[in-house]
Formats: sequence, C-alpha cells, structure tokens
Amino acid sequence: MADGRPNIVFIMSDDHAAHAMSCYGSRINRTPHMDRIADGGMRFDSCFCTNSICTPSRASILTGTYNHINGATTLSTMLDNRLTTFPKLLQGAGYQTAVFGKWHLGEGPKHNPTGFDEWAVVPGQGYYHNPTFIFPEGDGGGVKRTVPGYVTDIIADMCIDWLDRRDPEKPFCLLCHHKAPHRPWYSDEKHASMFLDGDVPEPDTLLDDYANRAKAAEAAAMRVGVHMSTTDLKCEMPADMPEPELRRWAYQRYIKDYLRVVQSVDDNVGRLLDYLDAKGLAEDTLIVYTSDQGFFLGDHGWYDKRFMYEESLKMPLIMRYPREIAAGSVNRDIVLNVDFPALFLDLAGLPAPAEMQGRSFRPLLQGSTPPDWREAMYYRYWMNGAHHNVAAHYGIRTHTYKLIYYYNDGCGQLGAMNASPPGAADCGGRGRLIPLDFEPEWELFDLEKDPQEMCNVVNDPAYAGVVRELKDELHRLQAEVGDARHPTDRD
Ligand code: CA
Repeated sequence: MADGRPNIVFIMSDDHAAHAMSCYGSRINRTPHMDRIADGGMRFDSCFCTNSICTPSRASILTGTYNHINGATTLSTMLDNRLTTFPKLLQGAGYQTAVFGKWHLGEGPKHNPTGFDEWAVVPGQGYYHNPTFIFPEGDGGGVKRTVPGYVTDIIADMCIDWLDRRDPEKPFCLLCHHKAPHRPWYSDEKHASMFLDGDVPEPDTLLDDYANRAKAAEAAAMRVGVHMSTTDLKCEMPADMPEPELRRWAYQRYIKDYLRVVQSVDDNVGRLLDYLDAKGLAEDTLIVYTSDQGFFLGDHGWYDKRFMYEESLKMPLIMRYPREIAAGSVNRDIVLNVDFPALFLDLAGLPAPAEMQGRSFRPLLQGSTPPDWREAMYYRYWMNGAHHNVAAHYGIRTHTYKLIYYYNDGCGQLGAMNASPPGAADCGGRGRLIPLDFEPEWELFDLEKDPQEMCNVVNDPAYAGVVRELKDELHRLQAEVGDARHPTDRD
C-alpha cells in the first residue's frame, strides 16, 4: 500500500444494465471479467440512480449531490466545474488522479474536467471508431485530436499507460469512463460475429401493451422497432412488417449489437484487472464497476432509460477490495449514486464536506448495515418530453413498493419541454408522437407481487393505507434533500 491509503479504480460504462452481466444472472450474455470483480468482492442488488440519464447521474456521482443542488437536471445543463467533487478532494489530499473516456458534463473552460492530474475525454457522446478526444492543452478549453482505433480499447490503453507512469509512492484514483455501450451500438471487428447463430432470449415484457399503467408509458417514444432509426438498426426498417413481428425482429438486431459492444467492455475490464494483478496492486486497490444508470433491454418493449422503472433505475454495482470486502458477498441495502463520493473519501481517511448529500456505505462493504440505514430513496426525472417523449416524474422506492408521480411539466428546466403539446422525439422510425398534455397521474407498484411493474394499483382500495404512507414519506424525503413538490401535488 503506497502510503497506507487504498487506490481507487472506478470503471463506469454508459447505459450498461445489470441484467446484461452474468454476475447478475443475465439470461442473454456472459461477462467473465466483471464476474471476477463480483466473485472476489461484493455485488450490490439495490444500487439506484437518482435521475436515470447520463449527464445528471454523472454529476451526482462526482459531487455527491442531487440534481436540483448541482444544477445538472437534464442533458442540456452542464456541470459547473468549480463545484466540489471527490477527485478534487482526493487530489488535494495527495492522491494522483486521472479520468479517461466519456465525460458528458460539458466542454470548454467552465465544464472540462477539473481535479485531475491528467485527463482525456470524448466530446459529448463520442464515437466508437477512431474517436476524437479532448486533451488538456491550450488555454483551458482543451485541444481535440482523433485517436485511431476502437474507443473501448483506447480508453483502457490510456488508463494502463497512466498507471505505468504514476509515482508508486503515492495512492491513485483512476476514473475509467467507457463510452460503450451507449447508442448507436457499433461493435469492433473482434466481436462482430458474436450471436450470428440463433436468437437471443426475449425479455418477458417485450410485447408490453402499456395497459394498467399511467399514460406516460404509452406516450414514451422509445419502443424497440417503431422508434428506432436506420442507424440504430444498421439497416432499413421493413416497411410492411406489422407489430408484434416488427418489435421481435428489431429486438434481435438491437440486443445483439448491444451485447457485442458490452463484450468489449468486459474484455477491457479484464485487461485492467490483469494489470493490477501483474503489478501486485489488487490487494490495495478498491476496484469498482458500475454504469451511470440502467437500461431497457427490450423490457416493456423499450430501449433507453429515463423512467423510474426497475431496469432503468437500477445501476449495476460490483466492488472488490480484499482488505475490507468478503469475496462473493451480496448486499441488498439501498445505495445511491450520490453515495459514491462519501465512500471514496471515507476510504481515503477524509471527511465528506457538509454539502455532499450521500452517505458512505463503507459499513456495508464490511458486511454490517447501520441500524439507521435508509429504507427508501428519492428519484426525479426532470427532462419532460424532449428526447423520447418521457414525462417528467418523481417518486419513492422502498424495498417493497414504488410510488411515482408524473407531473408532466418541464418546470422551466433547460432542455425540457416547457410548452405543451407536442414534444419532439429525437429518435427516427415511424412512431406516432403522443402529446404529454394529460393530467398528472400517480403509479403504485407492489414490487413483491408485481416485480415487472405491469399493474398500477394506486387506485386499488386495498392499498389506500400504503399510498398514504408512501406519499408522506416521499414528501418527507423531498424536503430532506432540499427539493420541492410540484404545485399540482397537493395530497
Ligand atoms: Ca448513460
């Protein structure tokens, strides 16, 4: 151990759902290198994002704050790089710090990475093949250069190169931020021939008809097939193919491309693990694998994320740190993206600043749940309409229930649809756009009886007491984190 403090390797991919990892019981692929982390450490089964979309979740992960505090509520609200982040605090305490890969928190002097000894990030979403990177040169705005090769390999190369050049006497914190497997799912040559034979199993809810749900579900423009572009499908959509055949056909094209891209991420996780092993660093290094949110893999007939439904809300999270985590352990306590900074600072022996809203879950790593650990979490998706026509909503999830309020209002947020109707879906395809001009609605799911969230029971008299308790707890949590309820939420 360099100076008694652990190293941190934080690998975060983009839009990788837990149900496409074999350590989470995937029915559709194998991820042997990610499984090495889970087998040697802990798998978290209830890690959730507080806003299921790239920029907002990344802002929460760096700052430890909810989006109404850090200001990154939508994809159009970039992170002010003067805010306090955990890399800055670690750097200030003598850690060597670096980030390579996807940033997606804005570009230029006000938004480029700060708090890192070295960095190179792709602009916006970045490209899979021969990607452009921004390097920290020039007047603070950075300089863009194209790097030949495949983006996932390049990001791992940059990480390993930096590790090779570090000072072995000091601890390090490395952020390896993969662009993959974000849309539009271009694989490398190495994995292009995977899944050519036969079909990938379909999710149970692929042919969801959105009955028994709030209107927001039917209005969402993210259906596999009708809401996909030729870029997504890598071919023209068959003009005369009706549903449900179209959805089933498009699912096979989509999921195979997605999984090919995931496989390269897994290979490159393996490269980093091999490096740590070869250099004798595995014992002294906390290695994390996560993704900025979950993703619909044909679940409910969808791709994309945004909704508070399970597949999108849940982040994969596996951690290995032999000094504190028992191999092969599983944790089911609720942990959140805002908790990461407090944990990393705790491991480095640093206090978390008062403005950070998350809580260190180091006791959970050690197999001990504090008696006052949270039993519920607060979620808010701000980006009303706009991409994929998903209605703005907030809600609460406990271990057994989920209550969601669709208030269908941009609330003046940049990038949200603030005038109704209609919104503008950015996707191609031939889907009909449904205006988000309906009245606000509540949804309640009984997660024990209905884990796939197919039946909204908010108006079932049998749940009246549960609804009352959850609304009270939602409003209490909202006040606790400093957010305010929507004016139409008067219950
Ligand atoms: Ca993402």
